[in-house]
Parts: sequence; structure tokens; C-alpha cells
Amino acid sequence: MELRTVMLMLAVGSLLYGLILVVFKLKKNNPQEVPFWIQAKILQSAGSFILFHRTSVYDSLTLLANIFLLLGCAYEAWTIRILSGLNIKRQLHILISVVIILACSTTVFLSTPYRSGVFFLLQSAFYFLPCLFLFGKSSMKSSLQLILGISYLVTGSVFLLSAIVCFGLPRNALRIGGSAIFGIIPGVSFCIFLISGVILLLLAKERSDMQIQEIQKNLKKSEIRFQRIVETAIEGILIFDEHYKITFANKNMASILGYTVDEMIGKSYASFFPESHMYIYNYQETLRKKGEDSVYECCLLRKNGCKHWFLVSAKAIIDDFGRFEGSFAMLTDINERKEMELLLKESNRRLIELSNKDSLTGVANRRCFDSALEYEYSRLRRSNSHLSIILFDVDHFKEYNDYYGHVMGDECLRQIGRVLESCINRSVDLAARYGGEEFACILPDTDIHSAVEIAEKIRQRIHDLKIEHKKSSVSEYVTASFGVTTVKYSQERTLEDIITTADRLLYKAKVSGRNTIEYAEQ
Ligand code: GH3
Ligand code: MG
Ligand code: MG
Repeated sequence: MELRTVMLMLAVGSLLYGLILVVFKLKKNNPQEVPFWIQAKILQSAGSFILFHRTSVYDSLTLLANIFLLLGCAYEAWTIRILSGLNIKRQLHILISVVIILACSTTVFLSTPYRSGVFFLLQSAFYFLPCLFLFGKSSMKSSLQLILGISYLVTGSVFLLSAIVCFGLPRNALRIGGSAIFGIIPGVSFCIFLISGVILLLLAKERSDMQIQEIQKNLKKSEIRFQRIVETAIEGILIFDEHYKITFANKNMASILGYTVDEMIGKSYASFFPESHMYIYNYQETLRKKGEDSVYECCLLRKNGCKHWFLVSAKAIIDDFGRFEGSFAMLTDINERKEMELLLKESNRRLIELSNKDSLTGVANRRCFDSALEYEYSRLRRSNSHLSIILFDVDHFKEYNDYYGHVMGDECLRQIGRVLESCINRSVDLAARYGGEEFACILPDTDIHSAVEIAEKIRQRIHDLKIEHKKSSVSEYVTASFGVTTVKYSQERTLEDIITTADRLLYKAKVSGRNTIEYAEQ
């Protein structure tokens, strides 16, 4: 076969081969690449193309072509080294590439047969090199490697022989150019191209299968490790799919909630949330779907319907395209702590309530009245509205006590407290026991007429209780006298002034015959 034709076939063949390798590398779901291989084929293709054009003359282009071919050979040797399970150091590969370029460049000073001799010698070296890798310490030995090694050995020998011929018989070199040894170089090159191409692909496939096996082995190992961690964890672990259905639950999680692991799988996370906590679920779901992680407290329903508190650390699982694929949650049992917390909160609430309540009548006590009045009066400053105060006192209560006894007196005050509370409807209003048999109301945003109406209602209902009071000069039943005042905010007026006015009006009501209401606007 003519040298030019072989060069063209090698150029096209190497290019196609290189393109196939590029396709393998870019494959979406299973990209495969052996380092140096694509570069080797591209360099060999470029070198062969140039030589196809310039077989007869020797110039800088032919020098470049030879450099490309030699670099291609070197890169292919590194490919084989890697396929044999060995590594190539970056510095060494760069150093050898530089040596190739320098060695080739020195050939410009040599005459034709010696120059060819140098190229043949270098080429033979890079064909012998793969044999060392294939027959050397390589971890994998197969018949494919053996065939490949022999092919490289034969090719290396042919090039070495050619080099010897060039160096040994310089005077006859041109004549020898046509001789048998040079005649077989194109054929050998093409054969090695075909054989090495096929075998290298098979070796690469073998390597990738082994790598996959290795990956699968490691995956299995880490899966077992993960499973052990998960099973020994005192935390509950849950994994959800994109619809928030449970795809994994560890034993601990299942047992805390009173289920078996199998019963948990497929259940929706939402089904564990009590209705009152669904807002937590909904909020967390939106966060996860946005890819955000969070730590939150929530209570889940156990199989027996009881609530159980957890501290949840949740992580979104996002796929390569940024789509929500599910989530992972680590749940710490905080039920005991939470129950203590709730108990503490409740007892605190009750303590506050008790400290603000009058123990006899159940209405607010004097302390609560004072702080509420202070708050409402300061609020009045900003609102520029009205604030009404009702103060009332049971008529002739000393006589009642003396006649009916203290126990009956207490009961009378209790009933009056209940009446008072029934007359106060708005949440902002406050009914309180001011002291002894005196009661008071704070009515924010209430004008004098509405306040008097409320006072009248209380007065009437106390009378309607029909608590017998034989010692009263006012009525046969227990009655009360009222002082009502309405104020607007004024810098000069203190809280004491308001109370004093209400007290004065109450006194006026006492003086004017009791069981009546006196009122005034300030
Ligand atoms: P007036 O009509 O002028 O208000 O006469 P009064 O007798 O009601 O007024 P006074 O202030 O002289 O007497 C109030 C009485 O209320 C004295 C006390 O025995 C009684 N009292 C105060 N607090 C309690 C209480 O908690 N329980 C009972 N049973 N009586 C109380
Ligand atoms: Mg009194
Ligand atoms: Mg009284």
C-alpha cells in the first residue's frame, strides 16, 4: 500500500476514533473517559494529515507532523498505563512531552537518513513503553492485553529495525527507502491502529465495568454503614418523597409513634399532624419546596391518638436540575421537656391570674385595678378618647355583717361580684373589688351616658338579687350606691384625682339617700 494512502486512512481513522471518544465523554447519563486518549487520537490524526500532504519534502510542517505523531504515541502509552491500572504523574508526562519536542527539533541539523533514524527510534521507544505497562506490574492480565502487548512489541521492533537501518547504512539510506523494511512500516502502522483501537476499546469497557463494580461495592458498603448509623441513632429519621409520603423510617421513629416501620412507609407526613398544628406542616412544606432547610418544633400524633413533641431538623432533597425530590428529617424526642414547659407555662398563667384576682369574689383585685387604670389612662393620652370609672359601695354593709354574720356577708359580696361580671361584656372593660364592700369598673372609650347606663344595670341587678337586709334604711334588700365619672386625658389630672372624684360622687350618692347613682364628667 502506498504511504500517502495509509497516512490518509490513519488520519481519518484516528479522527473518527477521537470523535467517538468525545461522544463517549459527553454521554449524558453515563459519561466515560480514559485520560489522554482523545488527545492521543487528535494528535495522531493531525500528524497523519500533514504527512499525507508532505511525504516527499522535509520542512517545518513535516517536523510538526512528526512531533504530533510522537506526542500521540506517548499519549497512547499513558492511556494504556492508566487502563493497566497504573497512574502517570503530571510532571513526568509534561517532561516527556518537552523532551519529544526538543529531540524532534534537533533533527533539523541532521541529514535525511539520520533524521528518519531519530524519528523511528523515538517511535519504537513509545511502542515498547506500552509493552512494559501491559506486561509489567499491571494488576489485570488478560489475553486481550497479551495480544495488544505483542502488537506493540512487533511495531516497536519494526521501528527499531528501521532506525538501525537508517543509522547503519547512511550512504545507502535513500536506496534502502524503497527496501522491504520501510515498505512494511505503513502496513504495520495501520495494523497496530486497527488492533490497538479495538483492544483498547475492549480494555476501556472492561475497566469501566470494573469501576462500576467497585462503585457498586462501595455503595453497598456505605449503604450498610448508613443503615447501621440510622438504626443505632436515638433520633427518629424520616425520608419523604416529593409528595411528602414517607419512603423511609427508622425503627426508633416508628416505635416512638407506636407503629411498625412497614406501617409508616407510604403514609403522608401531614396525617401525623393534629389539626391545630397543620399551619406548621403547611409552612414547612413551602420552605422545603423552595429548597430551604429548617429546624422546628412540632407535635405529631401517635397511633393511639396522643400528641408527641419533636424537634425536627429538616433538609430538602433537590435533584441535579434543581427540582424538589423530597426531604430528609431528623426528629429528636422532646416530649418530656415540652410537657414540662407547657406545665410551667400553665402554672405561670394561673399564678398571674391568681395574683390579679380577688380570692373571695373572683373579680380582679385592687392591684390589677390600679395597673389597668394606669395603662388605660396612658392610652387615653394617645387616643384622645373617654375613660369612665364606676365606683360603688354596698349600703349599710356593716349592719348586714353584724346582723347576718360574716359568712353571709362574704356570700353577699360573692353574689355582687358575679352580678358585676355579668354586666361587663367587652374584653377591654375591667370589673374589680376595690376593697372591703367597694367595687369598681374601668370602661375605656365609654362616655358618661353609657357608663351611667352600665351603673344603672348593676344597681338594678344587685337589687334584683333580693338579698334580704332587715337592717337597711334604704330597702328590704341589699343595695349599693354609685359614683360615676368620665375623663379625658389632661396633664394636670392624676390617677388619684380620678379616683377621688369617683369617691366624692359615691359619697354624694350615700348622702342623697343611697341606692342611687351620682355622676359627673371631668
Ligand atoms: P355605708 O352605707 O355608708 O357604706 O355603710 P357601711 O356599713 O356599708 O360602711 P362601713 O364602711 O361602715 O362598713 C363596711 C363594712 O364592710 C365593714 C366590714 O365589716 C364589712 N366588710 C369589709 N370587707 C368585708 C369582707 O371581706 N367580708 C365581709 N363579710 N365583710 C366585709
Ligand atoms: Mg365602704
Ligand atoms: Mg358601705
